[in-house]
Amino acid sequence: MHQVEEIEIPQGSFGTTRWLPVHRFGEPSAGPKIYVQAALHADETPAMLVAHHLLHRLVEADDAGQIAGEIVVVPFANPLGLSQRMLNMHIGRGDLAGGGNFNRNFPDVSSAAIASLKGLLGKDARENDRLVRTALRESTRALRGYLELDALRATLLGLAIDANIVLDLHCHFEGVTYLYCNDAGWPAAAALSAQAQSVATLLSTGGAGGSFDEACDLPWVRIKEAYPDVPLAHGCIAVTMEYRGQADVSDDLAAFDADAIIRFLQRSGAITGDPGEIPDALCDATPVDAVDHVRAFTPGIIVHKVALGESVVEGQIVAEIVSPEAPLSTPRTILRSRTDGVVFGRLFSRIARPGTAFLSIAGQDPAKVKDGLGDPYP
Ligand SMILES: [Zn+2]
Repeated sequence: MHQVEEIEIPQGSFGTTRWLPVHRFGEPSAGPKIYVQAALHADETPAMLVAHHLLHRLVEADDAGQIAGEIVVVPFANPLGLSQRMLNMHIGRGDLAGGGNFNRNFPDVSSAAIASLKGLLGKDARENDRLVRTALRESTRALRGYLELDALRATLLGLAIDANIVLDLHCHFEGVTYLYCNDAGWPAAAALSAQAQSVATLLSTGGAGGSFDEACDLPWVRIKEAYPDVPLAHGCIAVTMEYRGQADVSDDLAAFDADAIIRFLQRSGAITGDPGEIPDALCDATPVDAVDHVRAFTPGIIVHKVALGESVVEGQIVAEIVSPEAPLSTPRTILRSRTDGVVFGRLFSRIARPGTAFLSIAGQDPAKVKDGLGDPYP
């Protein structure tokens, strides 16, 4: 059965009410729980169109009696960010009220869950799995915050924290299809990477920034570390799906992307039906720490020399910076890739600001790209 719920976010101001739409299919405990949300970065519109197509497909599956688990979809996850405009531009990535990047600083409920599980886990792996999900739910329910943004984060995490699979739908400014997955969820997510035709699949050990996917699946890693001797499988595959660039809003693309999710859910047992053959993967998974975030250290005009999706080699010129104020005889600043890899994303702006990353290349070796300059896209 398809049910739609509206969860009100505690008010940040009088005269304003915000709410989250929550679509539910299937029954809790009937099979794996799947959680999908779109556009936590509120200006990442392709993600919302994928969720729209996905909902149509799920309604069809529901009408055909094919839902075999519990599926929860939030087709727009950030009503705060949706409302932000400045000079007629939509600002959806960060909180204009000062709360930072909307996909950072999600609460980590690991410690609370570990404490509440003390003495409870035994020899039965299935029972341990159930106890952990209960502890995660209760730890998330206990989160407190007075700000509207804290409430939004706690609400989203509360919807997802006990899921077996979490898909957080995003996009880059300009980009190809790529995805992020934590090590613990790999290779279980390999079928999704191939089905989605990901051009770069980036694995991390997590823990750096409190992104939504990490907040959902790293507690399983921490709980296993705290209780290494009990049988407990990693219980959550959390993947951030990056659906190209912000302007890549197309029914054909979104239908393809939603279909890939449906096939992955069929393979995961949440929907019945034949997912067909897994297509050949377009990439191997590579470490997120091996991404070369190309930065300029002088202001100027960015002239790209490589295309999105293009494979490059170490030392290849990827961009040039033109200074409009320098004498015409001044050579351009040449920027080269520090790694072999594939170009998967870049900023809209063609104005270089010193230290700002504007182009990303998925490489293989973290040692080649270490720069200690921190979050490339804060
Ligand atoms: Zn995003």
